Amino acid sequence: MHFSEKPHRLGFERASALLQVQIGCTWGRCLYCAVCSRHPGPAVVTPLEEVAEDLDELSQNWRAYDRVFLYGPNPFGIPNEQLLERLKLIHEKLPSVKTIGGFACITDIAARSDAELAEWAALGVDGLSLGAESGYAPALAFMRKPHKPADIETQCRRLDTVGITYTLFYLVGMAGKGKGAESAKASAEVFNRIDPYRINVMTMSVFKGTPLYEMVQGGAFEPASERENFLEMRDFIAGLTDCETFIDTGHDVNLVHFDGVLPRDREGMVALLDMRAKHANERMLSEYRTRMRSF
Ligand code: SF4
Repeated sequence: MHFSEKPHRLGFERASALLQVQIGCTWGRCLYCAVCSRHPGPAVVTPLEEVAEDLDELSQNWRAYDRVFLYGPNPFGIPNEQLLERLKLIHEKLPSVKTIGGFACITDIAARSDAELAEWAALGVDGLSLGAESGYAPALAFMRKPHKPADIETQCRRLDTVGITYTLFYLVGMAGKGKGAESAKASAEVFNRIDPYRINVMTMSVFKGTPLYEMVQGGAFEPASERENFLEMRDFIAGLTDCETFIDTGHDVNLVHFDGVLPRDREGMVALLDMRAKHANERMLSEYRTRMRSF
C-alpha cells in the first residue's frame, strides 16, 4: 500500500479499508494544523495507477471490504473529475464495497453543485467525517478555518437532501482560555439545528511546528486548561438538547474517553465530565498532553 506517512484511523472506521488518494490539504491554513506542518505546500492527488495498485492489493485480502475510507486531509476537496475516477475505480476493483467515506471540509461541500453531491451519493459516498470544529464564530475566524457557523448548517442541509450522512467534529479548546463556556453554548446551538448522525469530540492540542505553537510561545494565544476543556465538553453535551445522535470521544487527543447516545446518556456523560473537572490534576494532565504531542 502507498502511504506517505504511517496511516492513522478513527476508531469508528476500524473496519474500513484505508486508501490514500491525497497528500496535503487543499486549504492548508488552519493555525493549529499538524497535518500541514507535515505536508507543507500544495495538496497532491495521488496518481490513479498508484490507487489501482492499492485496490488490487486490498482485493487480495481475506476480507471482502464493504467500506473504504479515503485517506488524506480532505479528499473530497480534490478536483471532482479526479475524485469520481477514484470512486468508480473502487467499485470496479472492490465490488463488495457499499460505502465510501473520508475527511471533508465544510467548504469542500460548498464547492460542489447539488447534482455533483447527488452523484457522490449514487457512487456510495456516505458517513463523511466533516470538520465543523466549532459553532463559535470568533474561534473559527481566529484559527483561519475556511467557514463560518452558518455555512455548517447550510452545507449539512445539502448533504441531508442527497442522503449523505456525516459525523460532525467538534474541537474543544479551540476558543482558548476563558472562552470554553461561550464556545460550547454557541456550538451546541448550531449542532442542535443540524442533529448529525454522529458527533466526534476532539480536544485542541498545540503541536510543535504549527503556527499556533509559535503564537503560544509569543503569548498571542493562551490554551485552555485541561479542567476548562472538561467543562467545555460538559457544557457542549449538556447543551445538545435537540440531538438524537451518537457522541464519541475515543480519540487520543481527549483526556477522557467515552461514547453515548443522546438524549439517553446525556446526564451520565455530564456527570462524568463534572467529576473529571472536579478532580482534574492539571500538572499530570498537561504532562500527558505534552508527551502526546510528540507522537
Ligand atoms: S482544513 Fe483540516 S487538514 Fe486542512 S488545514 Fe485545516 S485542519 Fe488542516
